[in-house]
Amino acid sequence: MKNLNLLISILFIAILSSSCQSPSIPKKENPEIKNIILLIGDGMGLGAVYSAMTVSPTPLNIERCQYTGFSKTFSLTDYITDSAAGGTALSCGRKTKNGVLGQDTLGNKFKSILEIAEDNGLSTGLVSTSAITHATPASFIAHVPNRDAYEDIALEYLKTDIDVFIGGGIDHFYRRADKLNLLDSLKSRGYEVDTTLESILSSTSLKLAGLNVPIHNPFRLDGRGNMLPLASKKAIEILSQNPKGFFLMIEGSQIDWAGHGNLAANLIDETLDFDQAVGFALDFAQKDGHTLVIVTADHETGGVTITGGDLSKHEAILNFSTTNHTAVMVPVYSFGPGSENFTGIFDNTSIFEKMVKLYNFKL
Ligand code: MG
Ligand code: ZN
Repeated sequence: MKNLNLLISILFIAILSSSCQSPSIPKKENPEIKNIILLIGDGMGLGAVYSAMTVSPTPLNIERCQYTGFSKTFSLTDYITDSAAGGTALSCGRKTKNGVLGQDTLGNKFKSILEIAEDNGLSTGLVSTSAITHATPASFIAHVPNRDAYEDIALEYLKTDIDVFIGGGIDHFYRRADKLNLLDSLKSRGYEVDTTLESILSSTSLKLAGLNVPIHNPFRLDGRGNMLPLASKKAIEILSQNPKGFFLMIEGSQIDWAGHGNLAANLIDETLDFDQAVGFALDFAQKDGHTLVIVTADHETGGVTITGGDLSKHEAILNFSTTNHTAVMVPVYSFGPGSENFTGIFDNTSIFEKMVKLYNFKL
């Protein structure tokens, strides 16, 4: 009887201790992560996402993501970040001063996830609907004290081994104060330089500089067309030829500009356009099995709230509380191996840290 009691208590302790261990994350069959596609909707807060969800007759691609979290976007100097400091937090894992790209206030340069991926033999790319020299894409490649130094930022593209970049801003490469023609420099380094979407989409080059697309950064409603989803798909097609893997950042830039302009129709339309690029990233990740997709924003713009609407009529009435950025946390959606790491509330800088860890890069 004594022995039985002992046995029961041992069993009880065994059950208790095993149940105590269970809250730790169970070891999952995590397929090796080879590729990360980071999609940044500039200024895309929940108001933009939910109004786009409301207006769309079908579910958004973003809704296919498996995990969600929230990112705190404050910068080193400001409660409300700009896209330079916000981009740097995502690209380099470090908070810096508003307006600064890829370095601290003393000029010490940070290494970006794109540069670390290059060092590790991966292919890399940037796709944006704004100038490729604009703050968000620039934060992944440039180290300059002033985000407006577009011609300096263009030069930084020649200091890296980036494989594919597609966006606007061609003037910063060849109509320069220093008279340098960086398009020639790119060509001599093996890049195919394309200035139309058609030539980009038909390219067979593994090194591609797609510039002048779009010209003068119009909204899609003003005729930009569907360059973002198509260029994103093309970039994935090129970069995925590297068996070692790739890093790709895709930006929907004009969600932010619609927020600044308090333009509801544009805000929703730009979010829908961005969501199509998300769809191509998810399609690839779903087939590939070794690709992590992260969808987030650098900050919210416009203080967007939804003050009315009708789901059955696909209508949303938006109200803007500012023409500037706001401090609210932004959503983080993720899909694929490692995506379970992007839940809860965290600093924007930890998105970089998680990417480095999941790639298994040694710093
Ligand atoms: Mg931007
Ligand atoms: Zn902005």
